[in-house]
Amino acid sequence: MSRQKQVLLVFLPSDSGVDGARSLYAEPEKSMPVQWFNRSVRKLIKKSQFAIPPLSLMILSSISVPGVEQRICDMRFEDFPDAVHWDLVGISVQTGMARKAFELADRLRGQGVIVILGGAHVTLFPDSCRAHADILVHGEADDLWKEVLEDLKAGTLKTDYRSDRFPDLSLARPVSKSALVKNRYFTTNLIQTGRGCPYNCDFCNVHVLNGHSLRRRSVSDIVDEVARFRKQDRRIFFFVDDSINADPAYAEELFRRLVPLQVSWFGQATTTLGQQPRLLEVFARSGCRALLVGIESIEPESRNAHRKTQSRVTELAAAIKNIRSAGISLYGSFIYGLDGDTLETPAAILDFVRETGLDVPGINILRPTPGTRVFERLRQEGRLLFDSEDSTAFRYTFGQEMLYRPKNIPLDAFVESYAELTGRLFTTAQSVRRGLGAPSAKTAVLFFNLFYTHLYGLSRNDLRKQLLCRSA
Ligand code: SF4
Repeated sequence: MSRQKQVLLVFLPSDSGVDGARSLYAEPEKSMPVQWFNRSVRKLIKKSQFAIPPLSLMILSSISVPGVEQRICDMRFEDFPDAVHWDLVGISVQTGMARKAFELADRLRGQGVIVILGGAHVTLFPDSCRAHADILVHGEADDLWKEVLEDLKAGTLKTDYRSDRFPDLSLARPVSKSALVKNRYFTTNLIQTGRGCPYNCDFCNVHVLNGHSLRRRSVSDIVDEVARFRKQDRRIFFFVDDSINADPAYAEELFRRLVPLQVSWFGQATTTLGQQPRLLEVFARSGCRALLVGIESIEPESRNAHRKTQSRVTELAAAIKNIRSAGISLYGSFIYGLDGDTLETPAAILDFVRETGLDVPGINILRPTPGTRVFERLRQEGRLLFDSEDSTAFRYTFGQEMLYRPKNIPLDAFVESYAELTGRLFTTAQSVRRGLGAPSAKTAVLFFNLFYTHLYGLSRNDLRKQLLCRSA
């Protein structure tokens, strides 16, 4: 009898955020107590299990072909399992971690392992991936992966797999969690209701990768999935869609049908939800405890410059208050350093956070990811601080380095104003106050604020070191 083919799907860690939060610079010799403290905080961050499983790999590992066994290796928690003979290793490549992915792929190929690369970076920059892979998967892999596994079995693997259309998500595609080690994660209850985004924010590539029209899964499939997942894991659900309220009629039907299941859930939405009272009421009743909303900017000029057009600045504060009044905590995500921002912007953000009572005010620095329109524009304007010809030069960090020159603010003044803003927003006392004052999910709000207090401290140090290195 021929042995089962062994396939490993690999997810790589970043060096930043929930994956470890280290300085980008070699740390100078520190005293034993300081070293011990830093190590303990890093361990605590990992143990706090903010990490969620890689959904794309869960989806692929759920596609079954007799004679092929698939495993997921999440390298945030384990080393690459070199002891096993793998017939095929698939690596998910994100642009911020492409170098790491290529290093691993090159090492494995040197040992004779067949490597297949897929993910956002492969879809956008296939030429830069070609030298590091035996096979490339272009675009969303849902309809292609079965063919890959069948070809592996038959010994007829091709060099490229691509489809000329996006997968039809209305077809039933049950997701299995059997390839996951459950207790590593904050929750394993990840649900995606659809893909695609009708908006055009220029710093985002969701619409480039997944298309402009919303493709929805059937409501019945999702309700069945939630019921099945709930039996396997009683923890919170996370709806990973970028805007869970993008199609209000669909969202209303879905969450109305989830009410009897009595789950608790987190998700991501636009602030428009605060102006959708019927939907807001259904969200609250169906167990919504917290939402991430992309505020991005409260400067009208910045919103226009970056095509963030889905809600008006004048409506933002009232919308946020409405959502919090419905008993839902809010993580509000800002980007400081957009093209309409000035040195007055941090004070306006502080006022806005104070007025609205946002539970976690996340302050990001613009990340011009290769493949987005903002990357192209900043490249043409000569404002990028990394090699724009090398698509692997961009790395993902938690606000630890400046990747571009802000339009209206000199670099050093920007870093100092960012440091002051995050230093004022994130202190232990503010974290406790926000945790206690959150309308729901108080413990999660408290932990996120404490976690960010540590991360923003790290990012301030690294940004200042970057400036010193540039001026040296
Ligand atoms: S930032 Fe959100 S709303 Fe804007 S294009 Fe991306 S997914 Fe769509």
